[in-house]
Amino acid sequence: MKYSLKIFTIFGIPVELHFSFLLLMLAIYVVALFGLIPGIDVIIAILITLLFITVVLHELTHSYVAKSYGVEIERIVLLPIGGISAMKNLPKDPHQELRIAIAGPFINLVLAAVFYPVYLFYGSFLPESINFLLYNFVLLNLLLGAFNMLPAFPMDGGRVLRAFLAERMNFVRATELAASIGKQLAIIMAIIGIFFNPFLILIGIFVYLGADQESRMVMINTLLEGIHVKDIMTTEVKTVKTTETVSDVLKLMFKHRHMGYPVYQDGNLQGIVTFHDLSDIPQEQRDLPVENFMTRDLVVTSPEEEVSATLEKLNMNNVGRLPVLQNGRLVGIISKTDVIKALEIRKTRFTN
Ligand code: ZN
Repeated sequence: MKYSLKIFTIFGIPVELHFSFLLLMLAIYVVALFGLIPGIDVIIAILITLLFITVVLHELTHSYVAKSYGVEIERIVLLPIGGISAMKNLPKDPHQELRIAIAGPFINLVLAAVFYPVYLFYGSFLPESINFLLYNFVLLNLLLGAFNMLPAFPMDGGRVLRAFLAERMNFVRATELAASIGKQLAIIMAIIGIFFNPFLILIGIFVYLGADQESRMVMINTLLEGIHVKDIMTTEVKTVKTTETVSDVLKLMFKHRHMGYPVYQDGNLQGIVTFHDLSDIPQEQRDLPVENFMTRDLVVTSPEEEVSATLEKLNMNNVGRLPVLQNGRLVGIISKTDVIKALEIRKTRFTN
């Protein structure tokens, strides 16, 4: 993730600290050590550190269970509003998702259950500050466990809700329903946050955007399932030569209403040129060959690739089309428009 710092790796999972989190922690320690804000002392700073450790444990438990189901965990990122386990692929089996989701809050309950008796039986023998930390650590875990179980998808409780729904309807519908409940709860959280705690506003925004993004991703991946590049690519590929001028290629684009062309030299693919590359070139430079303006770092795909993977490449590289190569030979071209068309066709079939 951007702006985050890797602090350690555990079970092969990198744990990263977002800079906002780091700054917040530093600020708290500075405030505590210099007594800048009454009420925030070193004990409170330690309590906040304990909160941080608790969040790590919570995320690690999710990741540990997910890993046992073969789900790859890219990393765990800690933000001031909580942790995120970035999974490469999500489990589609509702039972697995349920267990992964519940594992986090469960560990909080376990921690509370372990430390509460310690507080209860030994608290009075311990120094007051340790006693205070112990009590608040138990409270913190109870609160974290309960808060995460709110059915606000994509929070843990929302994932449990989706898993529950997914056993009764198809996965896309279940996700949409869970996401819409999640968004409504996010709005309520933000409103409560205005009056009580600004952190809740942040969490509300985060939940809202997360619900939106994840439901869209599930929708797209499900709709594209089983479609390969060869099924939707354009096979009649018009190409241009590296030596053709900008104005000639622009004319070609207008004539054929086709906005991207692979560029060849002596039978070898050299790059790709799009309307976007050429449209802003001033008149006096339009006699120059297109090779001066084409994209040379080619991201390519193959006929057998799943379209969902290709779409990810298109988005990640922020390009509109990819050449399709088979054994080094150009066999087609696939554009975002092709993917969107396929999505629309599948969508009508899916919803009818
Ligand atoms: Zn969680």
